[in-house]
Amino acid sequence: RMAELVAAWAGPGVTADGRPIAVLANVADGTSARSATSHPVEGVGLFRTELAFLDRADEPSVEEQTRLYREVLDAFEGRKVVIRTLDAGSDKPLKFVTQIEETNPALGVRGNRIVDAHPGIRAAQLDAIAAAADGHQPTPWVMAPMIASATEAAEFAGEVRRRGLIAGVMIEVPAAAILAESILAEVDFVSIGTNDLTQYTMAADRMSAELAALTDPWQPAVLTLIAGVARAGQAADKPVGVCGEAAADPLLACVLVGLGVTSLSTAPAASAAVGARLAEVTVEQCRAAAEAALATAEPAAARAAATAVLAGAV
Ligand code: PEP
Ligand code: MG
Repeated sequence: RMAELVAAWAGPGVTADGRPIAVLANVADGTSARSATSHPVEGVGLFRTELAFLDRADEPSVEEQTRLYREVLDAFEGRKVVIRTLDAGSDKPLKFVTQIEETNPALGVRGNRIVDAHPGIRAAQLDAIAAAADGHQPTPWVMAPMIASATEAAEFAGEVRRRGLIAGVMIEVPAAAILAESILAEVDFVSIGTNDLTQYTMAADRMSAELAALTDPWQPAVLTLIAGVARAGQAADKPVGVCGEAAADPLLACVLVGLGVTSLSTAPAASAAVGARLAEVTVEQCRAAAEAALATAEPAAARAAATAVLAGAV
């Protein structure tokens, strides 16, 4: 029965009892954005801008960047688009960002941290986003990766708002999750990157196949951090999205909604399965599943507990 529901699901994201949960797409450029529009997504929840520049020796000009960002905005004209500033470094090195030799690149000068050595790169990117946004409705949301403190969040938000854009940050460093309340006070929204949040919470490299049992977003420690961020978002009345791979797992998507997450951004191909599953469950059932998952000690037990709670629902 679920397969038929997935095939028929056309969005928008809403639970069985009527709570809207936007189902959004993760994209990398104009081509992937245009192809995402053939899936039942309401917008873009994560535009990974660095992916277009991975093999570039020199920094792309503001004009070139503007064209790229406008392609994605045009594909989703009239719909929400969340643009992430360059997440350079670690698994996504950019040649035009000076690469000092780092013994531990995942803990190094990565994401928003490049701003100290290269303030001009981030300023040029924000100028290009603002130029691309000119005339586009609605105003794009812009978020920074690898934010670790409220001070970093406030500094970034100032730069974004000064250009007339909506400012947010990713929550993917445990410090940011722990202090979500003070970070939320500085921004308009947050989006949880569960890939890195899991890596840093479990101290386990996301690229390591040997550590796959640890780098599992069902880890109760990760769910506990997500719960805290979602609670802080509800208290501040600000959106808390999830844009890591966790959002593409329909069962985990229900748990995330139960924890208080307000939107889910996935690889476009996963959106129908996530939306169709959410349409079958109430927020109360999601809450019960989340509570059951949080009470376990292991990912497999968390999955089993959520499955058992939602068994009657789907
Ligand atoms: C994440 O870390 O979960 C995320 C969405 O960002 P990326 O996978 O691009 O690091
Ligand atoms: Mg990340």
